[in-house]
Amino acid sequence: MRINTAFDALPKSYVFARLAEKVAAAKKTFCDKIIDLGVGDVKLPLPEIFVREMKLAADEMQNRETFRGYPPTGGYPFLREAIARKLLEDGANISPDEIFVSDGAKSELGNVAELFERGIKVLFTAPCYPAGAEANVLLGNDVEFLHATSEDGFIPVPPYGKAYDLIYLCSPNNPTGATFSYKELKAWVDYALSANAVIVYDGAYSSYVSGDKPKTVYAVPYADRCAIEIRSFSKSLGFTGIRVGFTVVPKNLGRLNALWKRRLGARFNGVSYVSQRGAAAAFTPLGKKETEKRVNFYKTNASVLKIAFQNRKIWYNNTCCSPYVYARCPDGMTSEEFSDLVLTKAGICCTPSSGFAGKENFVRFSAFALREDVTEAADRIEKLIF
Ligand SMILES: *Cc1c(COP(=O)(O)O)cnc(C)c1O
Repeated sequence: MRINTAFDALPKSYVFARLAEKVAAAKKTFCDKIIDLGVGDVKLPLPEIFVREMKLAADEMQNRETFRGYPPTGGYPFLREAIARKLLEDGANISPDEIFVSDGAKSELGNVAELFERGIKVLFTAPCYPAGAEANVLLGNDVEFLHATSEDGFIPVPPYGKAYDLIYLCSPNNPTGATFSYKELKAWVDYALSANAVIVYDGAYSSYVSGDKPKTVYAVPYADRCAIEIRSFSKSLGFTGIRVGFTVVPKNLGRLNALWKRRLGARFNGVSYVSQRGAAAAFTPLGKKETEKRVNFYKTNASVLKIAFQNRKIWYNNTCCSPYVYARCPDGMTSEEFSDLVLTKAGICCTPSSGFAGKENFVRFSAFALREDVTEAADRIEKLIF
């Protein structure tokens, strides 16, 4: 067998799979309840409006007149048009035929790299969500990390003078929560335009952006000449189990829009009608309200955790726009050591920065949890001895 040797360059298992094993083992040795703030998966059940919409859609599948087979390439017009209207509200002038409905952001982070040659130079700002980088390694691309630091609030500055083919940005960032201001994002867009690089903008947490920070890369002029944006309904609607997202490939990116459509023809048969109807409900007034409620709920969870870190004198990256708290490890401790200590001493699972290609020793606490678990975790953090 001529197995892809790039697998050898990856860690033995995906960071969150390793974490799940650790939690399972901890659950066996502790009588104390383990609070899982490790994997960033939503915990609140779906709002009724999304479920009602999906039930109606499922009913349609039962009638000959309304039954539907393969969905159209790129998604149903009702969803693509609703997304385009929402993007316009966020300051992006994108037409429905530049929007492609996907089964979530994770696969798309790697899929978009298929538009380019193998062996290209790809830059990731670190710390970062690992899926895109791992996918590029598997494709045989040359992956580099640009390390942002806690001193700058984890806002990376473009690598002036260097050239890359693809640049992955994530704002609000998972794990740090760092969120680009308009000016900071514009610097990246200007750099990409001048360096002939394509930006892959991961906006999985765009619904967590508040204030005057940009919710989309296309809020910056001419970004549609250099950027692909990948979005997800997972963290906003709670669709991690339903699986819907979308990818924007603007026509101003030259051939890429047509090639993306061509690629979908070869590689993807679409997202289920039922799921797309559920996602479309996000853009109704009630759907918007329900989404906002959930986003605020998780943000409040993050605030509860932050207060505990403050009281325990643990430094964290303070940000308004994230369902995560990125906290610094005590002096002399690696992120693995500290996350093990937090697990064994406080019964809380968190993710070490080593899983995000983080250079500094930090741990990420997910605020995707029920309120009672978060207040209990906050309590335990305040009493944590290290
Ligand atoms: C959760 C997450 C994703 C994956 O989202 P799905 O749509 O569920 O695949 C992508 N990017 C980041 C930064 C994430 O945190």
